[in-house]
Amino acid sequence: MADESSGTADTPIASTSVEASLLDTIIAASPVLLAAEEAVPHGGAIMLIVAALSLAIIVQNIVFPPTADPAQRKTKREANCRRRRGEESDLAIVPDGSLDKWNRVWKRELSAEVYASLREGVTDPPNLTAEEGGLDDSLAEVGMMCCAGCGTELYDNDTRFEAGSGWPCFFTCMPGAVRERQDDDATRMELVCNACGGHLGHIFRDEGWDLPPPAERHCINSRSLKFVPAPPEVVAARAAEAQAEEDAEWADGMDEIDD
Ligand SMILES: [Zn+2]
Repeated sequence: MADESSGTADTPIASTSVEASLLDTIIAASPVLLAAEEAVPHGGAIMLIVAALSLAIIVQNIVFPPTADPAQRKTKREANCRRRRGEESDLAIVPDGSLDKWNRVWKRELSAEVYASLREGVTDPPNLTAEEGGLDDSLAEVGMMCCAGCGTELYDNDTRFEAGSGWPCFFTCMPGAVRERQDDDATRMELVCNACGGHLGHIFRDEGWDLPPPAERHCINSRSLKFVPAPPEVVAARAAEAQAEEDAEWADGMDEIDD
């Protein structure tokens, strides 16, 4: 019985402490409640401002609908730039730089010669042999000239031509892969890899080359490039294309003789 009486005696004590703690909580929160109550008269004005802002955003979206795709916006901007400049070049207009790194990282990854070409803008000596990092042996091969730094495909070897300058030259680049900027010498336009910003060489225009448009001359450091041969199926397809062109020319020639 003593246990039961002590049990019944404990219960009211616990109940009292719960009520007390509830009371404490209400007292503690009362300044907040009072503040909220004071703010109520301004609630209407706040709601009005929020509604006005929402309406303004909706109207703006109807009058000036945003282009959803950022890449589409970029392409549009690039096209406008090209139109203003009146050129059909494949050069990138808007800088990318997405594959650029700190120079100390490049220094670790590249040989001293390639680092000097790509990151310090040093011009290769002309007529480098393949052993010296030159590309002379690959002139007739099917494949891609890629950036020796980041590996981006810069030039189809098919667009390479012999300009007699001692450096590999191309009449155009892969679309958007290469960017031009004013050279430090303030007279020439420098070409850089658009992805990593590595120095490639210089661009020359209106030199009268009998080449497909844009007939530019991209004069490039061999050491800034890395040749990647095309897969056998591409080589075979190119050879078939060339053979078909040759056959068509021969057939035209025969027609002219017949006439
Ligand atoms: Zn690059």
